[in-house]
Amino acid sequence: MRLENKITLITGAASGIGRETAVLFAAEGAKIVVVDVNDEGGAETVAMIEEAGGAAVYQHADVSAADDCRAMIERAESEYGRLDVLFNNAGIMLGDDGDAEQTDEAVWDRTLNVNLKGVFFGCKAGIPALRRAGGGAIINTASFVALMGAATPQLAYTASKGGVLAMTRELAVIHARENIRVNALCPGPLKTELLMNFLDTEEKRQRRLVHIPMGRFGLAGEMARAALFLASDDSSYMTGSELVVDGGITAAYVTPE
Ligand code: NAD
Repeated sequence: MRLENKITLITGAASGIGRETAVLFAAEGAKIVVVDVNDEGGAETVAMIEEAGGAAVYQHADVSAADDCRAMIERAESEYGRLDVLFNNAGIMLGDDGDAEQTDEAVWDRTLNVNLKGVFFGCKAGIPALRRAGGGAIINTASFVALMGAATPQLAYTASKGGVLAMTRELAVIHARENIRVNALCPGPLKTELLMNFLDTEEKRQRRLVHIPMGRFGLAGEMARAALFLASDDSSYMTGSELVVDGGITAAYVTPE
């Protein structure tokens, strides 16, 4: 088991990457605090873990609210005694996020509040807990769009993920001597609700698919395995890095037919 008794908090764990990671980490021996705003989905994730013989609790928290983030970290410590791994994974991609002219200020604010400020609040509350535990690992979910621009615009989302990546590097440097590693996971386009709702026609999906050398969308489970590497001692000499798991999209100039 690669995460035996590691107390792990995962935001956005009611679906997609967060859920798959919660289930995988629990199977690897971690005890999970499942965090989300979707209480039904969160309870389902807990049930999936328990049915497989693992340990998990659900905590409702909106990551864009500082008080909620403090409460989620307190829950990890009150329930399991400490926090070892913090996966700041919750994120949104709003349908009316577009180019600079189209995107309303409200869309910008909501996206940045969840995707970027949410990671900041998670770290603000979580780092003292990781320090109390003697160190640990933080994983922040960024995206391949933090590394390259898309002609199908989603400006607020892209800016938020660029911020996550920059913040990850700086946090890694600041806390390196405290045995706290901070890395970013950069998924490519995935077959999860988040992206499939945004690319809501076959034409839009095909437009994205032509850029992916592997010719398919990634799966949440493939991101969970990458997150497992970043959470475990397998990545013990890795901090401030971005782990790009994208079917080759960032490597491509021209994709094969
Ligand atoms: P998803 O929509 O399946 O899961 C996101 C989860 O976050 C949901 O359960 C949702 O309820 C939760 N959430 C949303 N707002 C929240 C808030 N304010 N507080 C707490 N929880 C909240 O999507 P996913 O694809 O699993 O996305 C997970 C992460 O991966 C996100 O940060 C996303 O930006 C990122 N990502 C996704 C893709 C993709 O193609 N799907 C690509 C790159 C990066």
